[in-house]
Amino acid sequence: MNEYDSNRIYDLAYEINYKKTNSLKEADCYVLNTCHIREKATDKVYHDIGRVKKKFRNKKKPIVVVTGCVAQAEGEILLKQEKYIDAVIGPQSYQDFKKTILDLEKKHIKINHTEFEVIEKFDKLNITKNSQSSVSSLLTIQEGCDKFCKFCVVPYTRGSEYSRSIKELINEAKQLVDNGAKEIILLGQNVNAYNSYGKKLSNLIQEISSIKDLKRIRYTTSHPIDFSEDLISAHSNFEKLMPLIHLPVQSGSSHILKKMNRKHNIDYYLNLIEKLKKKNSLIKFSSDFIIGYPGETDEDFNQSIRLLKSVGFINTYSFIFSPRIGTPAAQMELLNDKICKDRLITFQKIAADIKMEYRKKLFKKKAEVLFENRLNGTDSFFGRDKFNNSVIVNSKENLIGQIKDVLINSGNHSTLKGEIIKDETNREFAA
Ligand code: SAM
Ligand code: SF4
Repeated sequence: MNEYDSNRIYDLAYEINYKKTNSLKEADCYVLNTCHIREKATDKVYHDIGRVKKKFRNKKKPIVVVTGCVAQAEGEILLKQEKYIDAVIGPQSYQDFKKTILDLEKKHIKINHTEFEVIEKFDKLNITKNSQSSVSSLLTIQEGCDKFCKFCVVPYTRGSEYSRSIKELINEAKQLVDNGAKEIILLGQNVNAYNSYGKKLSNLIQEISSIKDLKRIRYTTSHPIDFSEDLISAHSNFEKLMPLIHLPVQSGSSHILKKMNRKHNIDYYLNLIEKLKKKNSLIKFSSDFIIGYPGETDEDFNQSIRLLKSVGFINTYSFIFSPRIGTPAAQMELLNDKICKDRLITFQKIAADIKMEYRKKLFKKKAEVLFENRLNGTDSFFGRDKFNNSVIVNSKENLIGQIKDVLINSGNHSTLKGEIIKDETNREFAA
């Protein structure tokens, strides 16, 4: 979501005559867009500002703005502690970006915009054209969260759930496709909680599917509890909807899920997975796990391992619990650091083995790959298959924006390598 926000902030900056530079030394304005989901986010801000300061020693300082959730959660402190920062702008106040910069150009002041005005934000952003021109483009459809998982800072930094209207989203999706997008990734903290005057995520997928030159649709991140029957059916109804579902579970123990206030238990989660597989047998899953949540016993942890193995997630993101100031879990007693680290190592090793086992099954099989870019100065092209696996092939022809059948030859945890199939006979798609 920060990537989408960064693009939109750039669109706003462009309207007041700023352009991107790859050279930090040349910047007149430096925007640091931040994430607050886990620890060290604030340290990173100070560290990055330190780098800017060094580059601009003995020179006129650039305008320095911190945006994103660190600005929201700790903006006042940042402004007080680091005089080099001129403004902080929270995620619901990007509509104020242009005015902030224009004000800072005129006079040396400190500006703090951390209000929650999500409707005004999107009303104002809608009139700024989305200039993203990636083959795979991001589109925020929903923001904020009302779930209040006890470990999570999102409801405090992004505010309550808000869904943008279908009309404005179709408009923006068409802009992206006109700019060259072949894939759109619909984004939301709880993307499947999307609800705009009764129109749900499945309705939006249906509408966006009808954009002719768009080839693929993905959405992330889903909350298991918001997976309604119509969305389950969408996975058999809409061919453009890709068969990888990111479905964060957080723990394999229903006891820990309750302590997290997750609102789903493991039986419910497994049942949902079965329902989805029944609708579309191709579907695969990825997930997030928190390791070492307060109160997690050896048995709770083993249940996470059992779930990991039984579902066979093709990708997982696992994190040691990080206490976030202001959240209820930050008051709970922390587990011993060594126990958490050991559990994380064990978990990630098993997850990596499962991933590699799955990947080996793709070798010598056919994959449909949408190519996104060329690797710097080479004839190698990078793309993704339907399950979001990264694939690299060599080609003399420019493949960007095309979907090609690729024979997968080899690969590791991060990338698969293959060759374009010219002879269409006798190649089996991976299941
Ligand atoms: N809304 C999604 C859901 O509920 O499934 C998750 C979005 S959250 C922004 C992204 C991931 O960060 C979570 O799935 C969780 O695994 C991780 N996360 C959030 N807060 C955390 C914390 N305090 N410590 C460790 N990991 C955390
Ligand atoms: Fe955070 Fe997701 Fe829970 Fe919302 S549902 S509080 S975004 S983890």
